[in-house]
This record gives sequence, structure tokens and C-alpha cells, in this order.
Amino acid sequence: MNMPGEERLTLLRCAGCGALHVHPKVLCPKCGHEVLLEHSASGLGNIYTFTTIWVAPEAFKKQVPYEIALVQLEEGIKVTARINKKPEETMQIGKPVKFLRKNNLGYWFEL
Ligand SMILES: [Zn+2]
Repeated sequence: MNMPGEERLTLLRCAGCGALHVHPKVLCPKCGHEVLLEHSASGLGNIYTFTTIWVAPEAFKKQVPYEIALVQLEEGIKVTARINKKPEETMQIGKPVKFLRKNNLGYWFEL
């Protein structure tokens, strides 16, 4: 699947406590600081847990089955993502994944 989107994984780093966040926030939920700075992530991580979607919402019905994973990023935080994999590849907890893109459907990683 080739879709446009951001090809660099950017996180937000709190200027107050240094905590990293995946999604935009008005303030840091850990310390309340209001300055969050862009932080380039490595784009590397591994599968923390995953599931295979067989019954999808209407918009994704043609894509089943597909995998959704909670990816543990190298930076120590987790992000929910779609996983691109070849049919012969298997999902496994702990398996390394690499960031592909972020688009209006969310984050995409590949095995
Ligand atoms: Zn903070």
C-alpha cells in the first residue's frame, strides 16, 4: 500500500521535564509545562502487543485481515499503528518494526 503522508516520525518533547509524547497536547500531562518541542524519533521499535482485525469498520472492510499493534518505540513510549507485512511474515510480540509513514489513517510501521 503506497499512500502519501509524513515519512519521518516526530514526537513531542516536554521542555520542562523531557517527557516524550506521541500526540499533540496543549500541555505536558506529566508536569503541566506548556512548551512541547518537536523531537525526531529513530522510527525503530518492536511489537509490544498486536491483534488481527477480521471484522472491520465499513471504510476498512476491503483491507481485512490486517494487523494493529501497540509499538514500543526505541525512545521508550508506545504508539498504536497499522503494520504492513508480507503474507508469509508472521506477527510476534517483540519483533522489530520500522516506521513507514503517518497519514490521516494513523501511524504505519512495517516488519
Ligand atoms: Zn513535562
